[in-house]
Formats: sequence, C-alpha cells, structure tokens
Amino acid sequence: MTDRSSRSQSSSGGASGSSGGVSRRAMVRRTAAVVGGGAAAMLGGTAASAQAPGASSGQARRTFRAYVAFGREASMQTLTLLPIGPRQVLVRTEAAQICYSTTRQGLGAVNVAQAVIPCHGGVGTVIEVGASVERVEVGQRVIVAGQAQCGTCYNCLRGRADHCLRGNADGNPNGAIAEMRDGTKVAGFRAGCSELMVAFETYCVPVVTSVSPVELSVLADVGMVGLAATMTKARVEAGSDVVVLGCGPLGLSAVQGARIQGAAQIIAVEPIRYRRELALKLGATVALDPNVEGNNLVASIQQLCRSKTSRVAGGGNTLPDLVVEAVGGDLFPPKAEVGPDPTGVLPLQQAWQLCSPVGQVVTTGVGHPPGAMVSFPAGQWSNSSKTHQPGNVAGANSLRDLPRFVRLIEAGLFDAKALATATFPLERAREAFQAAADRTAVAAVVVPS
Ligand SMILES: [Zn+2]
Ligand SMILES: [Zn+2]
Repeated sequence: MTDRSSRSQSSSGGASGSSGGVSRRAMVRRTAAVVGGGAAAMLGGTAASAQAPGASSGQARRTFRAYVAFGREASMQTLTLLPIGPRQVLVRTEAAQICYSTTRQGLGAVNVAQAVIPCHGGVGTVIEVGASVERVEVGQRVIVAGQAQCGTCYNCLRGRADHCLRGNADGNPNGAIAEMRDGTKVAGFRAGCSELMVAFETYCVPVVTSVSPVELSVLADVGMVGLAATMTKARVEAGSDVVVLGCGPLGLSAVQGARIQGAAQIIAVEPIRYRRELALKLGATVALDPNVEGNNLVASIQQLCRSKTSRVAGGGNTLPDLVVEAVGGDLFPPKAEVGPDPTGVLPLQQAWQLCSPVGQVVTTGVGHPPGAMVSFPAGQWSNSSKTHQPGNVAGANSLRDLPRFVRLIEAGLFDAKALATATFPLERAREAFQAAADRTAVAAVVVPS
C-alpha cells in the first residue's frame, strides 16, 4: 500500500523547498494538510529557510500554543514549529490526558534545564508526515501512544514491544520540535499538551472510529497500560480472583480489563473514597480501604478468596490468581485521602505477598524514592512459580492493542468516559496538572481544539 517513489520525491521536494518535481501524492498531502489543518492551518506561516536533510517543510514556521515547562516554571507559550524529521509525524491535537508522572514538570516543581512540553501522548489528526513515514497518512486520526512500537528492534521481535528500543532513536529524544519567541528551543516529542504534536511514527496508531477524542486520550497512555495489565502478558483467566492495588486511571482500567476478561472476583484496594466507589461501578466486586485494613490487608484478601467454594474444593489455594499493582510513589501530597505509604513501596511488597504461588504479579507504579528496596522470602524467590510481569506499559503492544481497546469502548465494554472526570481547555492546562497532582480527578484531560 505504500508508495516509496512518491515519498522520496516528497522528501527531495521538501528538503529543497522547491515545488518542482513534487509528486501528485505529495501535492495531495500538502493540500490535505491545509484543508484538514483546522486550528493549525489557520495559524499561517512561511517555509523554513534551513532544515535537516530529509526534513519536511510543509507546516514549519507555523505558530501554535503549547504548555511549556522551563526552569522552575510552566506556562502557556506561543511557539514556532521547526521542520519535522523524515520519520516524524505532525498531529493537530484533539485531546491529551495528563500523566501523573509528568506533574512535577507541569507544575514547575522541578528544575527543567531544557524547555519541554510535559505530556505523554494524545489523540488527533495527522496534518503532515515526514518523507520516510509509512505507518500513517495526512488526514488520518491517530492515537499517539505513550510507548513506541517499531516491530523490528530486538525487543519487538521477541514479543516485547512494551520495551521497544527504537522509540525516539531515529533522532535525539531531547531534540527540539519548536522554539519560543526568544529562540529558546523546546522539546516534547509525542506531547499532547499543545495544539500540535510531533511524534515519531513508531508512536502513532491510526484508528477509524467515532469515539470521542477525550475517550481516546484515556487510552493513549495509562488506560492502555491498565488494560494491558490484564489482557496481554498476564492475562486474566475467566473465573479467577484478581486484586488491583490502586484505583487511579490505570488501576480503574485494570479493574475493567479484569471484568471484561471474566474474572469472578475483583478486589480493588484504594484509600480515596470516590475512587473506591467508581471501582465498584466499573466492575470491582469488593473495594477495600488500605487505611482501614492496615496490617490486615493481605489476610483480609486471603479471606475473601478462601470463602469461595471452588477454592475449598480445589485444595486450599486461598490467594489471588493475578495481582495488579497500580499505586506508585506520591509526587505530591494528595488533596484527597492519603494512602498508608507515600513511597509506594508497601503495595509492591503486598503484591508479591498476595499472589498465589502459581499466580501472576503485574507491577506498574513509578515514583518510588531512589534506593527503595523490596524483599522476598528466599525460598519463594527461588522456588515458587509466581510470574512477575514488570511495568513500563505492562505488556502492551500499542499498534496491536490500541485498535482493539478502541473497539472495547465502541462495544460498551470499556468505560473511558467514567475515567475522564475533568476536562480543561489548553489555556487552563495548569489546572489539569494540578487536578492530576491533587488526585481530585481520575483522568484530567486537556482539550486543545
Ligand atoms: Zn505516562
Ligand atoms: Zn521496537
């Protein structure tokens, strides 16, 4: 389906800045970019006078609005787009969920040496592609995922796209995509907290759907991880017992994944009351408060498993089949109920303790203090058959999984709307970061257009 010759012509035309010899397809692309450009197209601009070999000049020098962290500040800025690279894609952003792990940058709580748009992915429409891009075309709707999938690196070839090695490796991951008025370069590949997103094609997943941008944005990063935690490497067996520690957007996606897969019992553990209540609406059969359970949490969950008839008949395995840890360390004190361990280490320990000797543990938390340690009984570590699926994106293969996860929304099986509890226009992006940091929203979504 790809047309290499026209792409190479597009490349040479773009690099020289000349319209002579540009293929019909390239012309169509450029026209589509203007017709379909929406807010970006209205921004105007002139072609760049100098650019990298193979770079695309179509939309370069356009101005656009983005939320930028720099030094110890973060604010809305008007930026000028730099030419995109040959394997990069320019997307007009429709929605982007704030990832909790970016909140320190987003609220100016850490010193950011290089200006950056702090965000992980989003959803939008492609308005320009680099000369070597094959995966997507101008006019297509794409989810820009939080994790790359190249399909050809060492890890992708071994079925571990969740640890894809390529990602931004086609260029400098800290390379600039735009500049401020004073010439300061701004990084931010795949950052959707902006009217325009620049992403390597390895992050882009085309989708054809009428599902709303806000719902799709929930899937781009943490929703994908939560579903993957129960549906990919560690797959919930129908009729099994599942525990989900932590009911943020990731944990609540895991709760739904467990329900979709047919878990008989889903035990949600979460200190924040409104999140426990939402967990019960989304499929949890029990929701426990770790502050109430205290040191009895593991025993309480064992008891919930022990009471099941099949467990008794089966010979006494009273531990869950799958435990998903979705807590992590506190980057900010929550403005909701505070959990028992702000470091996030305790839930990691409990996940191991809780898991059946032949069960699976999925860990996804981030933000633990440097040097934090988890320990295991040596005999268990040596001889039990607990399977650990460590996080990053919990086994997700974005190109394989995001389209089917979109279908789960279409089929009414995955409720993304229930997770997107707060939306903000781009100009109020700071409030979105604050809501995520405070945990007053489940998923805080920025809607640039
Ligand atoms: Zn993220
Ligand atoms: Zn790869």
